[in-house]
Amino acid sequence: MNKLRNADKDCEQLFADIGLTSTEVELMLAYLSFQDGTTSEDPIEVATSVPYAANRKVTGWTVADLFRFGFPPLPTRSVVNAISFPGNSVYLRPSAVTWQMLIHEALHQFRGIDDGSIMTAWEKYGVNPNGDSNQISDLIRKKCN
Ligand SMILES: [Zn+2]
Repeated sequence: MNKLRNADKDCEQLFADIGLTSTEVELMLAYLSFQDGTTSEDPIEVATSVPYAANRKVTGWTVADLFRFGFPPLPTRSVVNAISFPGNSVYLRPSAVTWQMLIHEALHQFRGIDDGSIMTAWEKYGVNPNGDSNQISDLIRKKCN
């Protein structure tokens, strides 16, 4: 099954809004590499950035720590299922991987587009640019299935 090869106008427009075609996204998916975030000992500062880690109060943590505990303040109810910074590795929770999540993370890894830019570009579909980044995956699922 290849949903992108059969992308309809809605799906094509969604990607066009961030400067891509469905064919380019299909290629990005084929080359996407990722790691199991639940077991990764990579430092958060390396997976993301030093300022990001400091801002989110996770300096000194590993990626596995983040997947285990979520972002402070702890205890938190928010579960981290995926994280990736442009040009860095993509870390995923294997039990929670979805097709739309892979596309979402590929946009970061290959095009360096951050969540804020994507959500702003998709505001016309009802996405809140200051809201949760899960809106990105949700909209891909809605528009491209
Ligand atoms: Zn994201």
